[in-house]
Amino acid sequence: MDFEWTAEHNAFRERLRDVLTRTLPADWGVKSRYDTSSEYVSKYSRTFCPMLAKEGLLIPHWAKELGGEGLDGFHHWILGEEMVAAGEPRSYQYMSVNWVGPTLMKYGTKAQVDEFIPKIKSGNFIWCQGFSEPNAGSDLAALSTRAERTKNGYIINGSKIWTSGASFANHCFMLARTGGARRSGVSVFLIPMDAKGVEVRVIPNYIGERTVHEVFFTDVEVPEEWRLGEENKGWDIVTHVLNLERIGIPRYAFSLRVLDHAIDLLKQRGKYSDSAVQARAGRAKAACEASRHMALSIINERVNGRPASATTNVARYALVTSDRMIAEFLGDFLHDDLVGGNDPMIMSGYRRTGSVGIASGAAEVQLDLIARNLLQLPRGD
Ligand SMILES: Cc1cc2nc3c(=O)[nH]c(=O)nc-3n(C[C@H](O)[C@H](O)[C@H](O)COP(=O)(O)OP(=O)(O)OC[C@H]3O[C@@H](n4cnc5c(N)ncnc54)[C@H](O)[C@@H]3O)c2cc1C
Repeated sequence: MDFEWTAEHNAFRERLRDVLTRTLPADWGVKSRYDTSSEYVSKYSRTFCPMLAKEGLLIPHWAKELGGEGLDGFHHWILGEEMVAAGEPRSYQYMSVNWVGPTLMKYGTKAQVDEFIPKIKSGNFIWCQGFSEPNAGSDLAALSTRAERTKNGYIINGSKIWTSGASFANHCFMLARTGGARRSGVSVFLIPMDAKGVEVRVIPNYIGERTVHEVFFTDVEVPEEWRLGEENKGWDIVTHVLNLERIGIPRYAFSLRVLDHAIDLLKQRGKYSDSAVQARAGRAKAACEASRHMALSIINERVNGRPASATTNVARYALVTSDRMIAEFLGDFLHDDLVGGNDPMIMSGYRRTGSVGIASGAAEVQLDLIARNLLQLPRGD
């Protein structure tokens, strides 16, 4: 791929950096600890995203008639890179603009679009994604949360697990079984998190403050209007969502910052002259850059209207690999800082890699897909 940023792309990145410099508090790193899942960042997102909206930077990649600027997929990716590098001040609202809004516009009724799109565009509305269940993660089609038909709609019973942002979310974009087994019996529901019978429990973990949750649905009464799309046709919507989410977030953008900061600390302490340390830093940086190039080649496919290919799985695996190399670098050369835990960037850079090979799809599943679809290797028993 012959790739050069256009003057327009460069100007867009500069505009974003300028907004971030002007608006993030001086003590952003200390307060946010670069933790998207913290109460501080999620609350801050409700101020930050309306400001981005005013600047025309919340949904620049949405079509003009939908309130966006109609900018191409590279602009969207640049937006993600700059936000992630800054510690993602949009918190979980990145999901609303990346996939929830576009999916609602494709599958929603007029009433659903009229209700939710203005809320998303206001920058003050957080969604969570209720897909995974205790017995349905990589094998999502095994989900068993059930929506039973009633006279006026449904009653939902079941539970979700690993739900990001559920503590702060206004609404859950969730899946429930309305019909038979596997993919053919799934429907999508849009459930207010304050609906009677919805209970959220934080799962304590070392990745972030409120990273993941269990969400329980007990006799939740759901009117027909809360279903998105046709009954039992939810799998088409799932496929659409996973396609929009398919590369994941540009995690390397933050990892590169963490690595530069780690190198600075080692230099200040006179510990960077060792060529073995430099070689490891070089390898980690090369892995982040490779991951970035893979991601951009996927965006290029998308912008040029080519169908999704198995190189997407390579790009996802490259993201996992580069993040793990950063964590290993920190673990090997800055272990005292990790035990002491005072530097928010080092701590966040290390902790967040704990979930990189499992969140948004297990790394091993990506390898399976690469073997099958790209390398066309025969399947074992
Ligand atoms: C931080 C974090 C945030 C998350 N946020 C959300 C969210 O907001 N909403 C949501 O719905 N889910 C969320 N998830 C859940 C995530 O999508 C699942 O954890 C993931 O899909 C894996 O499912 P599982 O946990 O059930 O693991 P399993 O599917 O049980 O997999 C466990 C391990 O088994 C192996 N394995 C499984 N299947 C295969 C296969 N086919 N080939 C090879 N190896 C395999 C892999 O090693 C895998 O790591 C989140 C998870 C994390 C860690």
